[in-house]
Amino acid sequence: MNTLSANHIPGPSRIVWQVTAPGGGNRPGLLALKDTLPVMSDISDAFSPPPRLILAGHPGHRHDFDLLLWSAVRRGLSVIVAPDPNATGISAAKVEDWQFTGVDGLEVRIDSPVAKPSRAEQFENAMLQADAATHLGLALHVTTTITRAGVPGLERLGDLVRVLGTTEWLLDFDSPETDLSAQEAEEVLTWLSTWAREAPCRVTVYGAPQWVRILDWAGVHWPGAVVRDGHELCFIDAFGHVYPGPRMRVLAGNLHRRAFSRIYLDAPVFEAIRDTSRLEGRCGVCGYTELCGGSRARALRMTGRITADDPGCLRPPDYSGIA
Ligand code: SF4
Repeated sequence: MNTLSANHIPGPSRIVWQVTAPGGGNRPGLLALKDTLPVMSDISDAFSPPPRLILAGHPGHRHDFDLLLWSAVRRGLSVIVAPDPNATGISAAKVEDWQFTGVDGLEVRIDSPVAKPSRAEQFENAMLQADAATHLGLALHVTTTITRAGVPGLERLGDLVRVLGTTEWLLDFDSPETDLSAQEAEEVLTWLSTWAREAPCRVTVYGAPQWVRILDWAGVHWPGAVVRDGHELCFIDAFGHVYPGPRMRVLAGNLHRRAFSRIYLDAPVFEAIRDTSRLEGRCGVCGYTELCGGSRARALRMTGRITADDPGCLRPPDYSGIA
């Protein structure tokens, strides 16, 4: 029997909402502004505290993008704008417009400490936007995709993150480009545990929830150190489809038909993710099942089972307790 209600469990701490369709344009099923208003009210009213809304996409592909921001802010939501790295036309003046609208921050993607020839324009745009955000007093959120090729530059990238005045550095260990073995991920996360102790910003990990184990082994407990699909994080696409996360495209429901809060509370995929008693293998017997539980997106992708052991974790098979 489903006994969940908004009074019993906290909601997600962040919702990534892709508000523009791939390729842009007003496509059938796209959530229009009028469709988004009740969704924003529901998100604001149903959970305490309300989740942070991260509005992502190509701002230039929606004429009402700024109105969307304003509407969310008016409903008391904390809003961050996360322009697609390839989005054009985002000048310092545009960032200032968003600040006037009342957004709290800007999210930019920076994967290396210097511009790579193949992504020079993306890098320059990210720097411009980051400078504009910190100059205006907006919170700067930097996301970094972790790849084997990028690991040697992480220390220097950390220096850049410091210099930029970053509020949060979010490291993504489960992007399509991520190619680290479990051993390599363990080494990067261990380095990150040390780096984060001296960091002037919040450090958050996506796609490698075993970081809570590594932090605990280091004697550190940081609430909110990881964001997990279907727990702290949810993803909404431009057509109102709700998923546990951007890398876990298991459809939970659609906002044209159901309220977000109801989908989050009782859609089968969210219930499956929250039911840690069903976890298999090492994740099922690990002392970190509740705090970590493994990446459900990776487990599903690599085994076909949402409850499977997370192959991305190095934890020894015979380990069953918190150190
Ligand atoms: S075995 Fe699973 S629950 Fe335990 S630390 Fe690794 S990923 Fe997390």
